Amino acid sequence: PATATDANYLLIESVVAHEYFHNWTGNRITCRDWFQLCVKEGLTVYRDQEFTSDLRSRPLTRLDTVARLKAQQWPEDHGPLAHPPRPDHYKEISNFYTATVYEKGAEIVRMLATRLGKEGFRAGMDLYRARHDNQAITVEDFVLALGDANDEDLSAFLAWYRESGTPVVALRHDYNKQAGRLTVEVKPLPPEGQAVTPKVGKPIPLRIGVIDEAGQEYPIPATTSGLIGHDLIELTDKPISFTIDKLTRPCVPALLRGFSAPVQIRSELTLEEQLILFRHERDPYLRFDSIRQAEQNAMIGMLQGEKSAEDDYRLIAATMAELISCKETGLAFLARLILPKVTFEELQIAIPGVLPLDRIFEVQDKVKQFIAEASSELARARLGNEKLIEEPYSPSDVQIDQRSFRNSLLRLQAFDHSPSGLELVRAAYRDAKSLTERLGALSTIAHEDLAERDNFLSEFRGRVGSNGLLFDKWAGIVASIDDEPNLGRLEQAVKDPLFASTNPNRVYGLIGAFAFRNPRLLHLSDGSGYAFFFEALERLNVINPQVASRLMTAL
Ligand SMILES: [Zn+2]
Repeated sequence: PATATDANYLLIESVVAHEYFHNWTGNRITCRDWFQLCVKEGLTVYRDQEFTSDLRSRPLTRLDTVARLKAQQWPEDHGPLAHPPRPDHYKEISNFYTATVYEKGAEIVRMLATRLGKEGFRAGMDLYRARHDNQAITVEDFVLALGDANDEDLSAFLAWYRESGTPVVALRHDYNKQAGRLTVEVKPLPPEGQAVTPKVGKPIPLRIGVIDEAGQEYPIPATTSGLIGHDLIELTDKPISFTIDKLTRPCVPALLRGFSAPVQIRSELTLEEQLILFRHERDPYLRFDSIRQAEQNAMIGMLQGEKSAEDDYRLIAATMAELISCKETGLAFLARLILPKVTFEELQIAIPGVLPLDRIFEVQDKVKQFIAEASSELARARLGNEKLIEEPYSPSDVQIDQRSFRNSLLRLQAFDHSPSGLELVRAAYRDAKSLTERLGALSTIAHEDLAERDNFLSEFRGRVGSNGLLFDKWAGIVASIDDEPNLGRLEQAVKDPLFASTNPNRVYGLIGAFAFRNPRLLHLSDGSGYAFFFEALERLNVINPQVASRLMTAL
């Protein structure tokens, strides 16, 4: 506990599970050639995700895996590194260990599991093991075994392995109040703005429901084409539509529950409809994503100079603030819901063409200000009521949830930079009983407490001593500070005696954190961010070209 955070414990747990699961999916049944890498990695990532979902929180695990997919795999699909989960050529096999092979590979397995249902997927995996134990196989063998065990032809899913790109699905809906009728249509769209345009027509399993403004659920009509089970439709190349009649309250389609397919949704949901989903939807992923989508729409409106978009964001911020005093939703889930959610990568993908970077950062600042106005005082009040954990440290769910919620409250209440709020964070740093609490407070100080940040950062550097793992945590915070357009702290950190270009952990801890988590400094308009980054890359390329090339994907 002296050198590991809650997140470290969870990651170690899932990595141990992942490597253990390779015993079957990777070793006893192995790949015929490197092009089949996805059949062992995608499948094993899916298994470790399910392990974590069973052992920990299923909704939070799903939020985290989708966030990782969007942050790491979607940029691959949208840039020059786009490649299918099963590529057909390579220049250097070491560059094959990508988010597309791993994370998107896991999503394909998840779609197959969703399509077959729990028992059908289990039967498929049993046949796969029985049929291929001690063999070296291909992606086709895997998909065939799943299909054979269920008397289904799943070969259309192979297109997911062959093709690159993120499919786009359009959702259109119309609620006619007078007729009490909701009409819904989903259809595949040819995506724009991607390096390689994915073909339309792959099977896309979509979990979908309909809820009204009071949260009541309505069944999808049994006659709907492509319907499999009560809330799952399989979209291919043709639109699917249905109508629900005799409605007495406004209704909203709830599309892509559980993120049932790795696709982008283009919907015309109004802000009011998104807020209905946020308040009443039972699927946690969709609940989270509906408010995230609302935030994103408002931010894009603000970027385009729409005055009403600011009012929209204020309304969203007020709705998020209602949750701060909520007693029902799980604390760790709340911790994620109450903070701003739209990432730089998501905006990058949502806005085609060259990004107006300075404007994006302005909008991000404004959004924070709106959230501060709505939430900071409420968060301060709730923080006063949240008890500190007195028991000895344990990476148990109960403790992790409490710490994560407290850290979110601490961050939120400091957004308004009130002296009493900043004093609370400093006290939380001093009184911290665990590394997770201390780093949570330090990170908030580094971002919000301009007067004290350097004092606290050097206090923590003193605690690091000569421990490399602790140094990485300190370096990660230093590298993520983005509100001062100078790179002085980073240049100092590179000269720190503990930093070594020869140690990949140190490199990821400092340079990786800067490249992946600090777009504002990396893309400084005077080019100084790139100069710093390329200097580090050049040094690194001589020693460890693999790490250097991985870091370059940040661009
Ligand atoms: Zn693996």
